[in-house]
Amino acid sequence: MSKVLVIGCGGVASVAIRKCCTADNVFTDMCIASRTKSKCDALARDLEGTTRTRITTRQVDADNVDELVALISDYRPDLVMNIALPYQDLTIMEACLQCGVNYMDTANYEPEDTSDPAWRAVYEKRCREAGFSAYFDYSWQWAYRERFEKAGLVALLGCGFDPGVTQAYCAYAKKHEFDTIDTIDILDCNGGDHGYPFATNFNPEVNLREVSAPGSYWENGRWVEIPAMSIKREYDFDGVGMKDMYLLHHEEIESLALNIPEARRIRFFMTFGQSYLTHMNCLENVGMLSTEPVMFEGREIVPIKFLKALLPDPASLGPRTVGKTNIGCIFTGKKDGADKTYYIYNVCDHQECYREVKSQAISYTTGVPAMCGALMLLTGKWNTVGVHTVEEFDPDPFLDALDKYGLPRRENRAPRLVED
Ligand code: NDP
Repeated sequence: MSKVLVIGCGGVASVAIRKCCTADNVFTDMCIASRTKSKCDALARDLEGTTRTRITTRQVDADNVDELVALISDYRPDLVMNIALPYQDLTIMEACLQCGVNYMDTANYEPEDTSDPAWRAVYEKRCREAGFSAYFDYSWQWAYRERFEKAGLVALLGCGFDPGVTQAYCAYAKKHEFDTIDTIDILDCNGGDHGYPFATNFNPEVNLREVSAPGSYWENGRWVEIPAMSIKREYDFDGVGMKDMYLLHHEEIESLALNIPEARRIRFFMTFGQSYLTHMNCLENVGMLSTEPVMFEGREIVPIKFLKALLPDPASLGPRTVGKTNIGCIFTGKKDGADKTYYIYNVCDHQECYREVKSQAISYTTGVPAMCGALMLLTGKWNTVGVHTVEEFDPDPFLDALDKYGLPRRENRAPRLVED
């Protein structure tokens, strides 16, 4: 018997909520709270009669700690699942601490306004000292470690697929397959086709910021930063076929470098088609990806927010997306003194996801791990207090849950490696 409060009711949250409702013996009570309550009500209505989970809905502005504290104190959940946006991570963590409730999310903190001088000063210092310039990093949330530990609470960070499952794959490789890991390549392939010339598969603002930023990877104990999209490789993905992929900065590299310190190199690649890249370059060149407000006809607009309003809603891509995703990790290292390679990954079909939960595979591959992460916390399988990323916990029950709830692993002990 447990009560969860889900904050956010977008693409990823909808999948997580639907999947939680299939495990209604654990998720007995759920409150869905978001900025736009009508979306929560619509989902609750859709689930009526299909689950024993008792669902209520509330409106909340998750940027406002006092509103969150009032909601959490009133509902008294066992866990808050933050599936809103990375902008709300710190306010929700703060409210959880004030109310004595466990916390989890699917992406690490970044500020909505990157021109805020107070944030910018910290950011610029971090760029100089750490050597990577992404807007997001773990330092803001790791700063809560001591407070969560003292309060006896758990905060689980980044429990989607990547970050999330990819780190569980690393923990699994470390536990069962290797004595020492030398290199990790995380490969995220979306072989889906939605038929639009240009659309993003999840929140456009978060997605476009991520892919237009410089790439970086971890090598020999330091960050190597490269211009955006300047390292390209080809890979033949199981279930998808040959795709171009590009090296990106990605948040899990930061925590993996800390938690698997022997890894000599950690890289992250994501596939993109030529049409996507051409559109993105063009939008970037004309300033449409900017997060800085500009004056337009007497009022301030933020270009990337305006672009978001023009692009297809990621939630609307579900019925029209065909093809598969393939996300996983390739490792090299040593076992019993011998060299070894290992690839663990999941293949997910967009249309099958749509039939099951009315969403495409991108929301599915994030929402299912969020649900499985919640399951680990609620059933006490992951209970180390403090602020933790997925690789810090036992991967076995989590991967078993993923196998059961729709994201089964596949393994290959003689994979083709990505070129250096
Ligand atoms: P959406 O934009 O579809 O949904 C975001 C939801 O949060 C919406 O319901 C939105 O409300 C709500 N929200 C936004 N601001 C507030 C606020 N101030 N107060 C209350 N609610 C708010 O995003 P996605 O579902 O695509 O993504 C959700 C999260 O998942 C993001 O953090 C994203 O970065 C992460 N993600 C993680 C991945 C991983 O593998 N780890 C992969 C993909 C995404 P409204 O309806 O009013 O806009």
